[in-house]
Amino acid sequence: TDFANLPLSSEQLATLKTLQYNQMTPVQAQSLPAMLAGDDVIAQAQTGSGKTAAFALGLLARLNPADFHVQSLVLCPTRELAEQVADEIRRLARSQANIKVLTLCGGVPSRIQTQSLQHGAHVIVGTPGRILDHLTQQRVHFSRLQTLVLDEADRMLDMGFQAELDQIIAATPATRQTLLFSATFPSQIASLTERLMRSPKHVVV
Ligand code: AMP
Repeated sequence: TDFANLPLSSEQLATLKTLQYNQMTPVQAQSLPAMLAGDDVIAQAQTGSGKTAAFALGLLARLNPADFHVQSLVLCPTRELAEQVADEIRRLARSQANIKVLTLCGGVPSRIQTQSLQHGAHVIVGTPGRILDHLTQQRVHFSRLQTLVLDEADRMLDMGFQAELDQIIAATPATRQTLLFSATFPSQIASLTERLMRSPKHVVV
């Protein structure tokens, strides 16, 4: 359960030490080896399990800072969760210079987000409705996406975001890595993962 056993950069390990993340939590220990190998992961994990750091470390390891196309997309059910996730990614990205993390959620004028998008972003975190809106208006493109994360997937489906999720995912490359986190696994999630994921590793904590 020591982060040092993972294929992470020495800079990333130093950042974890600074944050006093000394040991991996169970969801991190079970999912990070597969994520860092590029595999798809389905994880049943609750808030407080350290799930955010798990997928944040997975997506940050694949980022190319020199490429200003959107490389990672994290879909969340609510604006509050999206802000927390973006904060955690920024904390963990401290050792990687100039990584830009942008949140796109409803409740904020689209115009300001559109201006931010014009400057480029490596990672986008947001809610499905607003992200689909920017995508439809061609203000954002996911053709170079490497990592797609569905956080709290069960809540997104409960909130009726199925159609938005399908349209967003259709705009991403089939070669992407997909990471799905959910507290519960109703049949709707099972059919979603069957359609979206390639030989995923299942993690239950
Ligand atoms: P989450 O389940 O992602 O909401 O994370 C719960 C809390 O645990 C957050 O405040 C994280 O900063 C913290 N955390 C995540 N991973 C670790 C770790 N390995 N060691 C200590 N704290 C952690």
